[in-house]
Amino acid sequence: MTLSGKVALVTGSTSGIGLGIAQALAGAGASIMLNGFGDAKQIEDIRAGLERQFGVTVAYNAADISKPDEIAAMVKQAQDKLGSVDILVNNAGVQFTASVEDFPNERWDQIIAINLSGVFHGMKAAIPGMKAKGWGRIINIASAHGLVASAQKVAYVAAKHGVMGATKVAAIELANSGITVNAICPGWVLTPLVEKQLQDRAQRDGTTVEHQSHAMVAEKQPMNRFTTPAQIGGLAVFLCSDAAATITGAPLSIDGGWVAQ
Ligand code: NAD
Repeated sequence: MTLSGKVALVTGSTSGIGLGIAQALAGAGASIMLNGFGDAKQIEDIRAGLERQFGVTVAYNAADISKPDEIAAMVKQAQDKLGSVDILVNNAGVQFTASVEDFPNERWDQIIAINLSGVFHGMKAAIPGMKAKGWGRIINIASAHGLVASAQKVAYVAAKHGVMGATKVAAIELANSGITVNAICPGWVLTPLVEKQLQDRAQRDGTTVEHQSHAMVAEKQPMNRFTTPAQIGGLAVFLCSDAAATITGAPLSIDGGWVAQ
């Protein structure tokens, strides 16, 4: 199966899950528009490394996903520079933990803007081009927290449940246009986003990050292991295949049994 001739825009692909997805899509032959924050030299190394490893064109746009105008400009740049946006992966996301009554307003606004509104603005900008070509794949990275809740994560859980709703609406609207819209719902994946939570827990409990990484997975997942960014990339590639042409509006759990309970 090959995605050569397709262009994929992956938000938040300078790190973690987004980078794993970009690598998998490039490995399947797609041209890539990378996005996300980080050190300019490291990002250029990632971009050039993907081009070298997979022989595809890879561009980078620094759009801030909390800013609708920057998202629209990034989609346009991908269309101008790479030819189209056939595959959109809305992956950029941030986390902050506190109880509802202590949750800072500015953190709520930031998480809703990036994790939820960014998904809406990305889909809105990319859909017209996909419709014109009669083919498209939109993959929204939700979470087990798009399906069930945990304490201390009010903005994240609200945003991810919102992503599930937006995914279903877009899937219904686009059902007969050759475009599928799905959500991947990972459980624990060991990325910088989760490493920060492990460090906070170790500091709070006076234990080690190693201890917390076992405890945190065991608390939520029957399967005692992390999912990898490469495994999520594999699922994204599958969703772009013909075998997945009638999968739409679906939450695809990849979570070690988290939401089976
Ligand atoms: P990460 O921190 O490793 O990567 C986040 C990426 O988003 C980075 O590239 C970062 O630069 C980018 N980003 C953050 N704010 C941005 C902004 N305003 N504009 C543009 N880019 C921005 O985190 P991750 O764990 O890889 O998370 C990726 C996605 O997967 C998120 O949506 C997250 O909610 C989701 N997720 C993660 C896990 C997990 O266990 N790690 C589980 C379920 C879902």
